[in-house]
Amino acid sequence: MRFDVLTLFPDMFETVLGESIIGRARKSGIVTFNFINIRDFSEDKHKSVDDYPYGGGNGMVMQAQPIYNAYQSIVKDLENKPTVVYLTPTGKVFDQNIAKNFAAYKHLILLCGHYEGIDQRIIDEIVDVEISIGDFVLTGGEIPAMAIMDSICRLLPGVLGAEEGYKDESHYAGLLEYPQYTRPAEFKGRKVPDVLLSGHHANIERWRQEQAIKITKEKRPDMIKR
Ligand code: SAM
Repeated sequence: MRFDVLTLFPDMFETVLGESIIGRARKSGIVTFNFINIRDFSEDKHKSVDDYPYGGGNGMVMQAQPIYNAYQSIVKDLENKPTVVYLTPTGKVFDQNIAKNFAAYKHLILLCGHYEGIDQRIIDEIVDVEISIGDFVLTGGEIPAMAIMDSICRLLPGVLGAEEGYKDESHYAGLLEYPQYTRPAEFKGRKVPDVLLSGHHANIERWRQEQAIKITKEKRPDMIKR
């Protein structure tokens, strides 16, 4: 899968997406990332990318032209236009189902805003889907872009080893995950549940399923309703 990220801060991405499971997926070629600096496409002699909002108000707004040129640099030689996702607090709230849906795509372009956001006309011109990572406002779209790319990559075949499979994880099947334990068998007087030491796979499976339902009921009754 290929991700092209349009951003004013390409250096923010390498540390997060160069390590651990996603770093390994990149090395093995399952996923490729291109971080494209929108500022490189400014036609302004000072390389500026933002301007005052029409109508007045706080802050600055990212201009359409540098974003459009950066976008054209990706799509100009492509036969099929990739889906363009704009990260914005006004978008549809991201969840595991949207991650599953995106994991079926071969190519996504993610557009990260900054300042007060971006000129509406570039959204109207190139954006297909608007995604929020929650009902709060961040400084830029970079952290949301990293979060959604990470969650999508975990679902790509070959990214997680069999022992780390994503199907037992929270949200995959509409439940939260059961509690996990590792050695030692006792810590500060707290014991690992006997069933997990029993070696009886069917009982362990049943206990995990029961715990997943119990925890989901307690912590997220809205998920049980759904
Ligand atoms: N003025 C905008 C508003 O009130 O909706 C917020 C702009 S925010 C400071 C700057 C950029 O951060 C946005 O253009 C968007 O790309 C990103 N951003 C902030 N919060 C986000 C969220 N919850 N989900 C996705 N992107 C977000």
